Amino acid sequence: MQQDYDLLIAGGGLAGSCLALALKDTGLRMAIVEANTREQLYASPSGDRALALADGTVKMLEALGIWQGIRQAATAIKTIHISDRGHFGKARLSAQKENVDALGYVISARDIETHVARLASEANIELICPARVVGLMSGDNAIHVSLKHGDESFSLSAKLLIGADGGSSSVRKLLDISQKVTEYGQTALVTMVKTSVPHNNTAYERFTASGPLALLPVGNNECAVVWTRTDEDAKALMAGSEKDFLSELQDCFGYRLGELALAAPRRAFPLSLIRAEKMVSGRAVIIGNAAHQLHPVAGQGFNLGLRDVVVLAEMLIQQHGDIQDIGAADFLNRYAKARQKDHDLVVGFTDNVVRIFSNDWLAPALIRNIGLTLLDHIPAAKALLARQAMGLAGRMPRLGRRR
Ligand SMILES: Cc1cc2nc3c(=O)[nH]c(=O)nc-3n(C[C@H](O)[C@H](O)[C@H](O)COP(=O)(O)OP(=O)(O)OC[C@H]3O[C@@H](n4cnc5c(N)ncnc54)[C@H](O)[C@@H]3O)c2cc1C
Repeated sequence: MQQDYDLLIAGGGLAGSCLALALKDTGLRMAIVEANTREQLYASPSGDRALALADGTVKMLEALGIWQGIRQAATAIKTIHISDRGHFGKARLSAQKENVDALGYVISARDIETHVARLASEANIELICPARVVGLMSGDNAIHVSLKHGDESFSLSAKLLIGADGGSSSVRKLLDISQKVTEYGQTALVTMVKTSVPHNNTAYERFTASGPLALLPVGNNECAVVWTRTDEDAKALMAGSEKDFLSELQDCFGYRLGELALAAPRRAFPLSLIRAEKMVSGRAVIIGNAAHQLHPVAGQGFNLGLRDVVVLAEMLIQQHGDIQDIGAADFLNRYAKARQKDHDLVVGFTDNVVRIFSNDWLAPALIRNIGLTLLDHIPAAKALLARQAMGLAGRMPRLGRRR
């Protein structure tokens, strides 16, 4: 291990590893600092969660050389069916009508995480693990980063530190960046079910009085379940038997996919919106969940994080190519400015979906049902929603078109 780097990336999750891969051919001296060992990361129950990847995300993963190795493990979403339990509104988005192969894809987080980690190791990207970032000091020419590895402490320096260390980011705290936290009082229950009726590559998003329920197609006859319930309900559903869980799930979703049977353990993820007040401080920048941890209702977290990665990688490649300082304040501020609008849009969109669709008061119920009915009848509005779902609403970063 050397002492002095161009770039240190704190966090070897999806955002951190994808950024390292995007920069692997630049000649930048870089390392990832990860708190867990690879074995711990692969064994983590949180890897069971299914991610819905927007079509725009898939194009970026393709450009990064990642998609080619995981495409086999992913299931295409050809139709999205949105409905409101007990009310009249529904909307349907179709890949065929939007003239695309798929509106998005479903894949387990573990499948992407293990593949990305393998690519990083094959590309000889230095991984310092298990080690935690525990201290920082940003100076004029470098940032000094203190690490803890078991009982041992050591320090490294870099021109730039990237905080990609997730929703509870230590880098964000050490930089004294304040955060806005919205507690929804909700927990996502995640599992897999077998369905007796084929899903035909349809993703279902069903809004219910107790919270949204998503069934995402996996393989031929399985669906990944992301079921948002109040914290209290979720606790009871996790503590109860699998039979009771399944019966309530079936009651909530109905029989559109026939009989459901549990095909994986149940996992619970408490939900909150965490938004950092800013992305940059001194010679450090935070990306991915460290900058914005979202409710999974609209499946936007990693999609948004990957756009951080791609925009930052593009800008770093340019800055490094121009032999300019990659930790310079004006450069980092330009990055923050480039990402602000996308963050505002996606955070606002997701937060509104949670608020409008998570209660059964008459007014919101009426508004969302009229909205869904109108949406289903106005092709332009549907195309716009489909573009948002596919992650194509914003500018497509150049990195995605490079090769
Ligand atoms: C139930 C659920 C469903 C979801 N569904 C979707 C979906 O359908 N579509 C979608 O786009 N997104 C979805 N998401 C969001 C997505 O999982 C996250 O946005 C994404 O995994 C965040 O990646 P990240 O790399 O930013 O953070 P993380 O995955 O949290 O990675 C952070 C890494 O940093 C390491 N670390 C932490 N602290 C330190 C430290 N001090 N020093 C060094 N390393 C440290 C951690 O060990 C970890 O490896 C979902 C999330 C949940 C919970």
